[in-house]
Amino acid sequence: MKAIISLNSGSSSIKFALFTLDGANNPALSAGGKVERIGIAPSLRVRSADGDILLERVWPDGASLTHAELLKDISAWAAEHLGDREVIAIGHRVVHGGTEFAAPRLVDDAVLDALEKLNPLAPLHQPHNLAAIRAIAQLRPKLLQVACFDTAFHHDKPAVAARLPLPRAFHEQGVRRYGFHGLSYEYIARRLSEIDPVLAAGRVIAAHLGNGASLCAMHAGKSIDSTMGFTALDGLMMGTRCGAIDPGVVLHLQTQLGMSPADIEDLLYRKSGLLGVSGISSDMRTLSASGGPEAEEAIELFCWRAAREAGGLIASLSGLDAFVFTAGIGENHADVRHRICGRLAWAGLRIDEATNRDSALRISTPDSPVAILVIPTDEERMIALHTLQVIRKDPS
Ligand code: AMP
Repeated sequence: MKAIISLNSGSSSIKFALFTLDGANNPALSAGGKVERIGIAPSLRVRSADGDILLERVWPDGASLTHAELLKDISAWAAEHLGDREVIAIGHRVVHGGTEFAAPRLVDDAVLDALEKLNPLAPLHQPHNLAAIRAIAQLRPKLLQVACFDTAFHHDKPAVAARLPLPRAFHEQGVRRYGFHGLSYEYIARRLSEIDPVLAAGRVIAAHLGNGASLCAMHAGKSIDSTMGFTALDGLMMGTRCGAIDPGVVLHLQTQLGMSPADIEDLLYRKSGLLGVSGISSDMRTLSASGGPEAEEAIELFCWRAAREAGGLIASLSGLDAFVFTAGIGENHADVRHRICGRLAWAGLRIDEATNRDSALRISTPDSPVAILVIPTDEERMIALHTLQVIRKDPS
């Protein structure tokens, strides 16, 4: 039996999933895990497909443990867990594929070099995504590695949604709207077509609301617009990212307040959003539990901005048939869903409070003009599916 590993390596976390392949090469989840708090006190938890805990490990004094060292540990555990099942490839989430990478790709040195040039466009993610590829190449030089891009799902969106209103030369240089969270949206489009093919063929907004947050407008399962643009900083308010702000604010920070580009980057990517407005935490659960006025203001702003941006995407779609919530907040936070849908009642979203409380699959009332659903995302499975496709085409 063979196996595939999906890897999503971020700045402070590494998520991974092991899939075994049956005779028809369908991936079946064998185990999934996450290392969190890298750089502080890393902890690792691995669960089986049934949710049983297979491994828990904490490194209380592990602040100096690098991603590469942790990947070595994960790799050793994976080999032990998989036994005689041979790992035939590793698929990686890579946030930015730029203009060049419109589909998943087998990684070689030239591809890695091209992707490295995109680091400044996704400073929170891209360097960590690529460092994981390099670390695995050191550990297992012969193993096939596939890069799966968050931008790829949005690559063929209408030209009008890709252009920024800047002089044309910038667009040619790649300063354009890309869109992110594409692996999540592609998975949602697939699941929706299994759950309700008629809805999937229509006009859908998917809301990926997690630490990173964005909305995607899809028509017939294809991305036609998204709230994220040139970088994953655009659009919605997020855990620590500000989302869309007047670009004049950035000029003000630099010219009037004398902030350096590095300080501005740190402010906009790491100190803003829920964390900045609440002054308490970037974590929605913590804010909800806190109940203080600043936390409440942060939650309300998050929902207001999500509804406001959704209004823009409804215009891009010329209407709406379904709204899908996904990711940590979207899948679990009934009050946030209630608030966002309440602000979109004008557009035909009628939420059913009982099914919403239970995070059921369908949370709209039977007479709601727009169907509202909660669909758990699975970026790791999407990565595994892409990886399989790529190595079947190009088995080297
Ligand atoms: P993600 O980036 O998709 O892992 O999502 C992280 C966000 O989801 C954080 O703001 C969490 O507080 C939030 N979240 C995760 N689980 C829950 C839950 N059960 N209830 C409310 N919020 C949650």
